Amino acid sequence: MTPDSLASSPRLYVTAPIVSGAEMAVTDAQSHYLLAVMRCVAGDVVRVFNGRDGEWRARVAPQGKRRATLRVEAQQQPQIPEPGPWLLFAPLKSARLDPLVEKATELGVARLMPVITHRTVVTRVNLQRLAAISIEAAEQCERLTVPQIDAPRSLADVLQDWPSAAPALYFCDEAAVRGGHAVPIIRALDDARDPAAFLVGPEGGFDPAEQNTIRACSFTTSVTLGPRILRAETAAIAALSCWQGVFSRQGVVSAK
Ligand code: SAH
Repeated sequence: MTPDSLASSPRLYVTAPIVSGAEMAVTDAQSHYLLAVMRCVAGDVVRVFNGRDGEWRARVAPQGKRRATLRVEAQQQPQIPEPGPWLLFAPLKSARLDPLVEKATELGVARLMPVITHRTVVTRVNLQRLAAISIEAAEQCERLTVPQIDAPRSLADVLQDWPSAAPALYFCDEAAVRGGHAVPIIRALDDARDPAAFLVGPEGGFDPAEQNTIRACSFTTSVTLGPRILRAETAAIAALSCWQGVFSRQGVVSAK
């Protein structure tokens, strides 16, 4: 097994503990993926991770035509902490929310926090669907963890209950585009030391009362993402990309 063929082998997220020599069950969807999509045969190598035990090499053991199990062999990578930002976002229609969750996962988000704001139009969030999207993105981008996804809460409650040990909250504030005051995001992050949290509004933005409430919180900093009004999912991706750029460069991301 060359390093190249290991690196190109399918990668699956599992929930069970991963133990050397164990035979592991996979879900029906994963069996379908391995046998029908990837056309794996007995003995083909896959990689598995569960967010706790690092990444392991395993081999496919088909059980009939439709079901597969995995025989776990050796650990390839130990588990390491993957500290990342929190993203507070207003739920969007799925055509926009799905890519937001996928891209945020690729960009290292540690926690996805749907918040209901005054102008949030979409209030029902399919958490299972979001989890499936973020797991697929984590499998593809070589993360060793998957992001935590919270149930939706009202923005007012989340702000009120913001723990004192929680990260600083960067409020992506489109008002600066129309002459309001906000710090360019890179400058704000350059001064930051700990994992950050970002808040992005819905398609209609935040209403004026809400903006004042957010700005009045001691743990928030208003940041601008540039001179144009971005769509909500673009704003989230832009903010997380800035975080990634600044913190990868400085190498100062600390585990909380
Ligand atoms: N319809 C609103 C814009 C909403 S954009 C309006 O015209 O005012 C959706 C969200 O993306 C905003 O609430 C904000 O959080 C973020 N956003 C968009 N452009 C931004 C920018 N240039 N700087 C900071 N945040 C921005």
